[in-house]
Amino acid sequence: MITLSRRVIAACALAAALTACGSSAGPAARPPSPAPSPAAPSAPPTLAAGPEGVVPVFEHGPRDAGKTVALTFDADMTADQGPRAAAGERFDHPRLIETLRTLKVPATVFMTGRWAEEYPDQARAIGRDPLFEVANHSYSHYAFTADCYGLPTVPEERMRADVERAYRAFRAVGVPEPMPYFRFPGGCYDRRALKALIPAGVTAVQWDVVGGDAFATDADAVARQVLDGVRPGSVVVLHCTRSAAPTTEKAVRTVVPELRRQGYRFVKVSELIGAANGRG
Ligand SMILES: [Zn+2]
Repeated sequence: MITLSRRVIAACALAAALTACGSSAGPAARPPSPAPSPAAPSAPPTLAAGPEGVVPVFEHGPRDAGKTVALTFDADMTADQGPRAAAGERFDHPRLIETLRTLKVPATVFMTGRWAEEYPDQARAIGRDPLFEVANHSYSHYAFTADCYGLPTVPEERMRADVERAYRAFRAVGVPEPMPYFRFPGGCYDRRALKALIPAGVTAVQWDVVGGDAFATDADAVARQVLDGVRPGSVVVLHCTRSAAPTTEKAVRTVVPELRRQGYRFVKVSELIGAANGRG
């Protein structure tokens, strides 16, 4: 029983690690702005600050502005997983990225800084490919709340630094324009975390469709879950971590043609945020 419990906890922690990614170039170069700036078309769209000035949280785009959908892939690697990578575990998923390229599917990759350090060539290639945008999933993939799937916790006074460290890691490996979007590890956040990240200048990005690919063994089940959940403007969370999400690439090969058959167009998160802004 103890063994089982420990395995469950470990699995949850990994699953949590599998649920966050990030962007770069950002905060320092792009200070938070109180509202979207139409005068600066080259700057990525961001949401206006949330209530009382906290970091805004984006979950999906407009439901009535056409059949668009954003696939997002969390490139998870936790700060303490270096020994596992050294022992041969693969936290990357190059075949998935190649499939997205072959199918010409724009996507947003929420990357941890630790992942970029482990796979600098892949991080750079993703960051320099106009098909993709790199966003921030923290440096450490530790939790920003006290109770988040058993993940270690980032102290409040270190939250901003953890996000900024990821941006530094992206720049160090040659990602030129990381986006000012941040996905909380495990998707766990609270008001305290949203306040702590105000100086980082990011928009928090959650999702409205869970792909369920973490630890999945049935690609068709993952594909069905995505297809059942997608609505116009949806943000789908999947993973770019081969060892813990081995069926994702196969599921994508089912999901993409079916959604296109239904009339959906794949977009990056930035386009959905821009569309949300356009609603005024
Ligand atoms: Zn994650």
